[in-house]
Amino acid sequence: MIQEQQIILRTPAKVNLSLDITGRRADGYHTLSSVFQAIDCYDTLTIRRIENDAPMTLCCQAEGVPCDSRNLVYRAAQRLLQAEEPRGIAMTLEKNIPSQAGMGGGSSDCAAALLGIRALLKLSVSDQALSELAASLGADVPFFLCGGTALAEGIGEILTPIPDVPERILVVAKGREGVSTPEGYRKLDRLEEPLPMYTKAVLDALHTTQPQRLFAACGNAFDAVTNLREIRKIRLVMSSCGVKPVLSGSGAAVFGGCETMTQAAHLEQLLQGMDFVRICKTIPYGVQQYGTDGIWHSL
Ligand code: ATP
Repeated sequence: MIQEQQIILRTPAKVNLSLDITGRRADGYHTLSSVFQAIDCYDTLTIRRIENDAPMTLCCQAEGVPCDSRNLVYRAAQRLLQAEEPRGIAMTLEKNIPSQAGMGGGSSDCAAALLGIRALLKLSVSDQALSELAASLGADVPFFLCGGTALAEGIGEILTPIPDVPERILVVAKGREGVSTPEGYRKLDRLEEPLPMYTKAVLDALHTTQPQRLFAACGNAFDAVTNLREIRKIRLVMSSCGVKPVLSGSGAAVFGGCETMTQAAHLEQLLQGMDFVRICKTIPYGVQQYGTDGIWHSL
């Protein structure tokens, strides 16, 4: 039997169509209720077999992305192969998803590494065991094992997949500044007024045929406490086009739902000065593998 020598995966980003803070656990973690949505902005992870006893390598050219055990891809391999210094594979990561954006880039790469290494090395690890490993690597990682649209509760690890949602067009933008998630939570804790809740309205509007109804329902508790200069600018530009700006995760990316491609192209043009701006579509699946037929397939 010919053994496959490499696997090429693309790993989607996400936005949070809603993010409500629902409470705080005794251990200090905030609980949330959030609708996660995978979008067609991808990193690419290539995993190659090398000699069994050769040390694992991870190569990534992106500025500020570590290539050692601080990288979630590296950590995924350590945990899955149960070795501090894994062997037998070489990985290359091409980043397109911005960091410190709230778009889940690192978590998505991590899920792809788990799925990809299992497939390439034909490891007998069950889906359940892989999900548990994913949750131990980061609260957002289990979502990316399946992608699409899902309701996340608890600290993000309790997932309910939501099937068959119509495709939507979004413009996602981010400036150079990143945000600190712990600082965002501290600011939320200091707020005296009750936090707005969006998830129920988003769930009600998800299947609607009028995109505007869904976009009007989207929102994020961190919107109230995140006010960097570039975020303010993105919000102003989106609002001036009649598009509601919503933070993704704890920021610093902001997305706006558009009714047409023309509206999205206009908005993208206006946001060209930003570090990152992209027209994205929502997608119904997660990590995909490049097939010998030249087509991307769901893993
Ligand atoms: P989230 O959306 O989950 O809040 P994020 O927006 O903070 O994530 P990430 O791309 O996940 O952005 O990266 C945050 C930090 O994690 C980076 O600054 C980097 O040092 C580290 N990191 C670890 N693994 C990765 C990875 N595979 N890709 C990018 N950054 C990674």
